Amino acid sequence: MKQPNDGAREVPAKNESAMPMADRNDASEGGGWSLKVFALTCGSFQAPRDFFLEGGGASFLHVPVTAYLIDHPKGRALFDTGLGLRFRRQMDEALGPLDVGFAIDESADVAARLRQIEVDPASIRWIINSHLHPDHAGGNAFIPNATILVQSRELTYAREQKDERLYHPQDMDTGHPIHAIDGEHDLYGDGSVVLFPTPGHTPGHQSARIKLPDGDAILAADCCYLKESLDSMTVSSLSADREQSLRTLRRLADLRAGGVRIFYGHDPNFWQTMPQGRPLR
Ligand SMILES: [Zn+2]
Repeated sequence: MKQPNDGAREVPAKNESAMPMADRNDASEGGGWSLKVFALTCGSFQAPRDFFLEGGGASFLHVPVTAYLIDHPKGRALFDTGLGLRFRRQMDEALGPLDVGFAIDESADVAARLRQIEVDPASIRWIINSHLHPDHAGGNAFIPNATILVQSRELTYAREQKDERLYHPQDMDTGHPIHAIDGEHDLYGDGSVVLFPTPGHTPGHQSARIKLPDGDAILAADCCYLKESLDSMTVSSLSADREQSLRTLRRLADLRAGGVRIFYGHDPNFWQTMPQGRPLR
């Protein structure tokens, strides 16, 4: 049977295995290190607009499933891992009982995306899960050597849930070491990637503030699905805690007003502006 990690064996399971790509980018920046972050599209999903924007109606919105590779001298991290193998199908076959459909093809799982930019999935040291829904943690199983970083509140909540449409045991019983964190976490100790709680969508949702060459950005994930969510301060109809979701949106609005870019979790128009295959600026 074909295992998700097939192919990883073709290259040594070491951090240096894909360094030529990183070297090229270093040279172009005069030797000074800056964080390299790559946007990865790991499938798509569709759901009624109301799912994304409370009161948004029943027409369907088709959105990307997003993940990021973070490349730093102290080790590589993924921010979310997209959809897992069980969602390998065409979108027109995908609508499920929540009126939500997930779909991915074999070129778009997170390991395939990494190989497309010459990065060995086995070289990833950490998986940061914004939360443990299937379109964010579903690809964890493709990444063999990583330690999972998740808020302890999310982990506890996820393990208590019985609804497998939202929290699937397959996504959580992968055997990875898990480092449960409480509150802010400076991943590399240099302020370049700081995880922080953004609860509401789920109780233990977290986002990441990252330092890019052109300024700071927030990898928001599902505390802010769309640019429109923030423009109109509209939460999703699926929030675990509506008031908490609103407080998180207000915090993001303050950050945006202060010049920090927000990288929305599932915004198809925003995502079209994100380059694929070269570092974000
Ligand atoms: Zn999501």
